[in-house]
Amino acid sequence: MELRKPVIGVPVNLLVDGHGTFPGIERAFVNLDYLRSLRLAGATPIALPFASTREDILAQLACLDGLLFAGGADLCPLTFGEEPIRGLGDVYPDMDTHQLALARAAAEAGLPMLGICRGMQVLNVAFGGTLHQDLDSLGDPLYQHVQRSHRHAISHTVDLVAGTLLERAFGQASIGTNSFHHQAVKALAPDFRVNARTRDGVIEGFERDQGFWALGVQWHPEGMVEKHPEMLRIFQLLVEACDREKVSIA
Ligand code: MN
Repeated sequence: MELRKPVIGVPVNLLVDGHGTFPGIERAFVNLDYLRSLRLAGATPIALPFASTREDILAQLACLDGLLFAGGADLCPLTFGEEPIRGLGDVYPDMDTHQLALARAAAEAGLPMLGICRGMQVLNVAFGGTLHQDLDSLGDPLYQHVQRSHRHAISHTVDLVAGTLLERAFGQASIGTNSFHHQAVKALAPDFRVNARTRDGVIEGFERDQGFWALGVQWHPEGMVEKHPEMLRIFQLLVEACDREKVSIA
């Protein structure tokens, strides 16, 4: 039987409609550019609604070959043992609960995971790291990490660490990326390795392959794929990791 396409779960974000016909109603959403990028990379994406019990989390994982944690709201700092500073943005604890539990259970099951922006931060916190709650609160000499330009526009240079999966995938020492984040990794989770940084020292990517496969990037490749097709490599790396995992299970 031919291998089906890897099924990649994308946990949903919460949207509360402020006006219109149903003010106050809560909706679940996933930005289409993530789903489009996964399809282009050869995967079948599916959206995962909030769940919190271990039984429901395991039931979601049973349908999947891998996970993509997307961008979105800030993580509640209580999840990594800090109190909220004034520069913290919107937080949705139900979303944090779902995604942190999903990441930890996926690691136990050996499912590959890609984290983008908030998703990278979710992976870091899930496995013992901490975050800068608000880069602007750190002051200079940090660069601007919330760009005021098109979604696809390159706004800063990211240096790739030699010998990492990410550096090998791009085949170059540095790449240009977009940037739409005000939080970032502070203490890196144990067993993760930094693979990308901006020249102000901000961690822009990490990876691991011991025990389970994970890749995180702080920029938004899904918003760049159309104009910068090389960014599809990031999604292909996830699909390839899922294929390898399936072969090893079979
Ligand atoms: Mn950045």
